[in-house]
Amino acid sequence: MNDTPDIPQTDADQSQRFLFDDADIRGEIVQLDHTLADLLAVHQYAPGVSRLLGEFLAAATLLSTTLKFEGRLVLQARSEGEVPLLMAECSDQLLVRGIARGAQHATSGEFSQLLAGGVLAITIEPLRGKPYQGIVPLSENSLAASLDAYFEQSEQLQTRLWLASDGEHAAGLLLQQLPAQLQRSADQRALQWQHASTLAATLSGDELLQLAPETLLHRLYHEDPVRLFEPRPVRFHCSCSMQRSRNALAALPPRELEEILAEQGHVEVDCEFCNQQYRFDREGLQDLLQAGPSGTIH
Ligand SMILES: [Zn+2]
Repeated sequence: MNDTPDIPQTDADQSQRFLFDDADIRGEIVQLDHTLADLLAVHQYAPGVSRLLGEFLAAATLLSTTLKFEGRLVLQARSEGEVPLLMAECSDQLLVRGIARGAQHATSGEFSQLLAGGVLAITIEPLRGKPYQGIVPLSENSLAASLDAYFEQSEQLQTRLWLASDGEHAAGLLLQQLPAQLQRSADQRALQWQHASTLAATLSGDELLQLAPETLLHRLYHEDPVRLFEPRPVRFHCSCSMQRSRNALAALPPRELEEILAEQGHVEVDCEFCNQQYRFDREGLQDLLQAGPSGTIH
């Protein structure tokens, strides 16, 4: 049996970094077309939910580009609104996945309705080392506003995001201050940040979705020397596997596994992110069935 999910993959989308030549500010532009389409081929959501998921995916991708180690970044919103749980993840390899759980009946197009009374958790999970989590209340207006508020309270280096999604495409722009190197005067740094972010705020959602990164940067910063780096591919990819599903089963009491086997002849684990099914028969679960309550094998 295959160990990796069989997801049809189309062309990769791209994320592209840029740097200001005379200011300690970096930027990143991501535009997701195929990625969102691939994800929405697995799940059917209402247009408002698709748009929201698009913004979350764009944001997770932008934020993952700030990671300096192997691992992944997870955005998770819990709310009392029409979407109880929304998750988007991006790895340092720019592999993304996402889900809106319990959103079958969501019909609204309003952020404030979909994620009413929500909380946003931003988790950084290094491959090696301890995870880190920051939590912020979701703003009534948008994910970008919520993230801006999060960075305002938690980071010394300024970070701002602009996000757009039409439910089929998603895009985002990130600006982040870098430690003082080119410009040491605090006043000058503040002015440069103000300048770069004020101009970024003039972008419309359509421009962010439709303009090529070079055109977009020219539109915003034609008077500032900006260097655009090689684009990096972004793809929808689920990190589930036979082994991970088996690990999940190992957490169940052997008695429960026996009951499922007696009833169905096998145990099936379905990945909620990509719908991949992992099926285990009695033979494949032998060691788990023999494990005692402490998890050790007799
Ligand atoms: Zn999966």
